[in-house]
Amino acid sequence: MFDLKGAIAQAKHVTFMTGAGVSTASGIPDYRSKGGLYADAERPEYALSADNLAAHHAHFHDWVVANMYHPEAKPNVIHQALAKITNEKGTIVTQNVDGLDRQAGATHLVEFHGNLYRLYCQTCHQSFDYRDYLQSDIHAKDGGVIRPDIVLYGEPIANAVVQAAVAAIQQADLLIVVGTSFVVYPFAGLIQYARPDATLVAVNKEPLALPAGAHMVLGDATQVFAEFV
Ligand SMILES: [Zn+2]
Repeated sequence: MFDLKGAIAQAKHVTFMTGAGVSTASGIPDYRSKGGLYADAERPEYALSADNLAAHHAHFHDWVVANMYHPEAKPNVIHQALAKITNEKGTIVTQNVDGLDRQAGATHLVEFHGNLYRLYCQTCHQSFDYRDYLQSDIHAKDGGVIRPDIVLYGEPIANAVVQAAVAAIQQADLLIVVGTSFVVYPFAGLIQYARPDATLVAVNKEPLALPAGAHMVLGDATQVFAEFV
């Protein structure tokens, strides 16, 4: 069994790459994993696309409000452990848009796909509170469409965000993948920036296909990280 605690204690810079599995224990469903349950127009890949927002903003709004916002959710023990470890010596690079790492106090954080709780009007770029957005996606003052600052299907990731993520991977002597099956590109491709001497570990309930030499810690991440908080 890989000694995760020892590895974290000895590492100089720990970079976590995290996904939906980190937030399911906070009651946030993994909308991608229910992919087969959606009708075509309701599939995340369509509903959450730049094309859908441009052509059918009301449908986009309905879908996002129905499926994505869980403002009652609180950070769980994984968010807390990762915030504590990385605030001392590391970075979290997350695919999650739920803002729970931030809520847990993480300050060395790259939100690779943005944050649902940061919103703006596409016309005038004014910021909005998510509570306003839950009521309406139209900015009354100028008629502009309000949207969450998340990366939609068909949209590029901002250069500054990619660069921050790459820097966090390159800095790490210990890279830990938690709560993601590593199928979503370009996020999964970040691993190619790992240093040759970095230790790569994945924490997951089921085994994942990992690069040669990587370590697998099988188990429930809430139990694995409980001893770090
Ligand atoms: Zn506006």
